[in-house]
Amino acid sequence: MGRKKKVKLMEPQEEDIKQPVIKVKAPKQTHTSITCVDCGAERIIKVQDIRQVTRCVDCQTKYRKLKRKEYRKNRLARLRTQKENLINLAKTHNVPETEVQEALV
Ligand SMILES: [Zn+2]
Repeated sequence: MGRKKKVKLMEPQEEDIKQPVIKVKAPKQTHTSITCVDCGAERIIKVQDIRQVTRCVDCQTKYRKLKRKEYRKNRLARLRTQKENLINLAKTHNVPETEVQEALV
């Protein structure tokens, strides 16, 4: 028989092309959820962060801002106290205040 066998050109099929392996972490093992201490919202966090995270993203941001603000405020207060202490110390040693001011700048 002279029938020619049809040769199908083997084009790479989609499933033959190797897909990059994307590792999807199982949420059950690596993640857990917490309840925000401020607003009660649920937040998904990594299990290893459970001791550090107590707030949802929004409240955490607010909390950090507040802490930073407090720190700056306290820092200024501390500096002021330090300055006052130095001035008082200078007074007891009869150092002119102008000299102290110059040294503090
Ligand atoms: Zn919250």
